[in-house]
Amino acid sequence: MRVQAAIMEKKDSPEGPYQVGIEDLELEGPRADEVLIRVTSCGVCGTDRHVLHDEMPMNPYPTPSVLGHEGAGIVEAVGEDCTLVEPGDRVVMGFPFCGQCVHCRSGRPIYCLEGEQLRYKGYRLDGSTPFQRLDGSPISGRFFQQSSWSTHTIALERQLAKVPEGVDHDLMGPLGCSISTGAGTVLEELQPRPGTSIAVFGAGAVGLGAIMAAQLTGAVTIIAVDTEPNRLELARELGATHTLVSSDDTIDAVRDLTGGGADYSVEATNRNLMVEAVAVLGVHGVCGAAGASRPTDKMDLYHQDIVEYGKRIVGVLGGGGPAPLNLEYLMNLHARGRFPIDKLIRFYDFADINQAIQDSESGQVVKPVLRMPA
Ligand SMILES: [Zn+2]
Ligand SMILES: [Zn+2]
Repeated sequence: MRVQAAIMEKKDSPEGPYQVGIEDLELEGPRADEVLIRVTSCGVCGTDRHVLHDEMPMNPYPTPSVLGHEGAGIVEAVGEDCTLVEPGDRVVMGFPFCGQCVHCRSGRPIYCLEGEQLRYKGYRLDGSTPFQRLDGSPISGRFFQQSSWSTHTIALERQLAKVPEGVDHDLMGPLGCSISTGAGTVLEELQPRPGTSIAVFGAGAVGLGAIMAAQLTGAVTIIAVDTEPNRLELARELGATHTLVSSDDTIDAVRDLTGGGADYSVEATNRNLMVEAVAVLGVHGVCGAAGASRPTDKMDLYHQDIVEYGKRIVGVLGGGGPAPLNLEYLMNLHARGRFPIDKLIRFYDFADINQAIQDSESGQVVKPVLRMPA
């Protein structure tokens, strides 16, 4: 079928900046374990930007290519082995996983042994792609096995979460990655005990997801740290009890607010504040590393600071948890007014994709979401 998709023609290179433009492509129908989805909306996320800026040397992404990995839409057709969804179902596309490996079978599909290939190879594991240019040349179209900067796409059935009745599915796409990353870091990994404190570095989509999740727990002190006062205002609206504009005094300020050190912290920036996020912890504190720093960034920690105080660092991919079921519970919390992700989102017409990418980059908008033409 004929579809409209945003093509990343080039990544950043010494010859010039990245290029993204919309064009008509041909899309094949679904294979046995795949689903054809009419995409209605898709977020713009830090990982899209890492690819555009060619900041992933471990995963050199192919060009030209269709990106987008926070898609939501309506199932149009299903492959012959699909049993979980049917045409007409409204769905969010979560992280892809193989369903067979030891982590998939142990309830940790985010950490699927094929996960990196499924997210960043740009093709199916067998090297194929369902997208073609009108001249018949294949075009990489399996980013996170969804490439949903497109009016239609193909996804694996097992990566889909069904959207509950009464929930606007166009708001739910960002649950597929950034927002559930923050929420899962708190709800699935840190699991704050009642009466504790948590400091969240970064009040973007990941950090605000963590703050909305923290206010669902027994944590009593929820501190948001960011450079932008308007994001901190939003953080307070979403459950932060204290906000701090990032400065040289941040570490001392968090220690003061938490009586010597936080029980938990979340690093949710794209500026690699791991050193700060670990420094604010008190004895036996736990830091969830969930941000979108460049994959090649390193962290410079003192051995004594970790050992002496029994501090722990937990890396968290995509929020961990039992994907894609975690997306369903977040949607049910949203339906009850307890996880108001609509406050993070601004919609853009698909045609304005380059503006949406720029606004995501500058941080002007917490979560730009593209609306596809019907
Ligand atoms: Zn697996
Ligand atoms: Zn993402």
